[in-house]
Amino acid sequence: MLILAVSSCLLGNPVRYDGRSKGDPAIIAAPCRLIPFCPECGCGMPVPRPPIHCRGDRLTTTDGQTDWSDRMEEFVRQETLRLRQLGINGAILKSRSPSCGLTDTPQFDETGRPTGTGAGFFAARLHRLWPELPLIDEIAWNMPEKRAEFLSAACNFGIL
Ligand code: SF4
Repeated sequence: MLILAVSSCLLGNPVRYDGRSKGDPAIIAAPCRLIPFCPECGCGMPVPRPPIHCRGDRLTTTDGQTDWSDRMEEFVRQETLRLRQLGINGAILKSRSPSCGLTDTPQFDETGRPTGTGAGFFAARLHRLWPELPLIDEIAWNMPEKRAEFLSAACNFGIL
């Protein structure tokens, strides 16, 4: 059975900044062993919490007053080790999240002005530390062709 790490909020856990979840039925029903993780809770943020965003190369509250970058950098290192030890075959990440988003997370410059979209702080570093690990977000998971492509990569990743 495939082992997939999943952004905890996608499994229905109320860990988001607003105290809510974003449970995705098609992920919850996946015939895989699903391992939840939440980078923001993992690096010590409370629930609920002030919203954060990607500001320059930092991860800060949206008012720029609190900088979580160093704690998140440490969490990414520890979590990558934990997930390697668990033998995961891939990960499903929450789109648009400042931590978990893969490609569509809003980005801001050092003054807080929008600059476009890109990867979330955790996802970018996870990919840097473990580039072979298959990744997908819940939007692509709900597209049959993209899900099949991801599952094929995850199966091969387990064999290699
Ligand atoms: S998107 Fe990621 S960091 Fe945000 S609540 Fe979900 S699991 Fe936690």
